[in-house]
Amino acid sequence: MIKLAGAYEVMMGSARRLGSERVEISSSLNRILTEDVLSDIDMPPFNKSLRDGYACRRGDLAKELTIIETIRAGYVPHKAVGPGQCAKIMTGAVLPEGADCVFMKEYVEKPTGNTVHFVGEGTEDNICLKGEDVKRGEIVLRAGSKIAAQHIGVLACYGCVEPLVSLRPRVGVIATGDELVGPCEKPAFGQIRNSNGYQLAAQLRSVGAIATNYSIAVDVIQVQNDIVVKAISENDVVILSGGVSVGDYDFVREVLRANKIKLLFEKIAVKPGRRVVFGVSDEFFCFGLPGNPVSTFVMFELLVKPFLYKMAGHKFEPVVNYRQLTETITRGKTERDSWLPVVFVEEGKVAEIEYHGSGHINALSEADGLICIPADVVEVKKGTKVAVRQIS
Ligand code: AMP
Ligand code: MG
Repeated sequence: MIKLAGAYEVMMGSARRLGSERVEISSSLNRILTEDVLSDIDMPPFNKSLRDGYACRRGDLAKELTIIETIRAGYVPHKAVGPGQCAKIMTGAVLPEGADCVFMKEYVEKPTGNTVHFVGEGTEDNICLKGEDVKRGEIVLRAGSKIAAQHIGVLACYGCVEPLVSLRPRVGVIATGDELVGPCEKPAFGQIRNSNGYQLAAQLRSVGAIATNYSIAVDVIQVQNDIVVKAISENDVVILSGGVSVGDYDFVREVLRANKIKLLFEKIAVKPGRRVVFGVSDEFFCFGLPGNPVSTFVMFELLVKPFLYKMAGHKFEPVVNYRQLTETITRGKTERDSWLPVVFVEEGKVAEIEYHGSGHINALSEADGLICIPADVVEVKKGTKVAVRQIS
């Protein structure tokens, strides 16, 4: 049994990069950029007024100034501002030659005719110089960025209308188990609805993967094999849930091996989880996750998610909050790290959620995050600051 960190290393070390494609800027939200984006212009592209007001020479601020023209945003000034002169100027307009400051229109005496008089105590320059924010040719977005709304603004600003992004990983999901029925069905005695297939597909979509749910695979080797063969041929990665343990009807590992998939690990010292399989074959990858929905969810968060992002060229960093425990947590001695669902409560605090184990799917729906209690730690005292890994 390897530690989670060891499993993570093995798994990340074998990830391959997907290809790239160009997409329209408006379709690029949440995609992973695969090349640096350079600025094709200085920003701002000209010396720019930051205020509605009057552009003049700073040394003339105390004087009555003659207005020589009005400069609107988007227009080019026609005249240079000389001594004793100013130009009326709008926010975002080009600063005229000769001027070195703009005073706000709020600080003038009621303008009479074509003159104006500044009456403020003093003024900022209210100018943004050409190239002050970004110089032409500078990198404005780095390869590997996950494109967020604010990045789309940057892409538009610098004319990158078709960013080069990673292909989305195609991921097949196969839920195994004789006991499973679809969510539309009322489970007969002994049956259970397939929640994992839906949960996994949703987790996959939230990381930008193209998820395909295959039919439920009953615990029959040939049936599982047929579905696995199909899923392998249609995806970059396949995730199976259930059937990875050591029960008489757990066939997943056998089926994967029969398909020439080399299993790089089969057991991790983590709870919930333990039975987690990761396999590779050439360009293809496969995860076998435990059937219990909390285990499936947590293992996706801890392993599958960073792996899929790596395939797309993005380094996933979980959001971690440090908060104080409201109550002491105790547990039996174990050689496994435990991940427990927790909820944010009052400012700066976090509470354990009632959690009955890895089958208790409802515990997750209330959770804001997970905390890790390392192997051999049997008690974490009330008030301890713990790292809460946020889940999304
Ligand atoms: P297994 O890993 O196949 O031994 O399953 C462990 C537990 O998870 C059993 O109680 C299963 O009924 C349950 N389980 C397996 N697959 C699913 C699924 N797709 N949705 C919900 N629960 C499942
Ligand atoms: Mg099973």
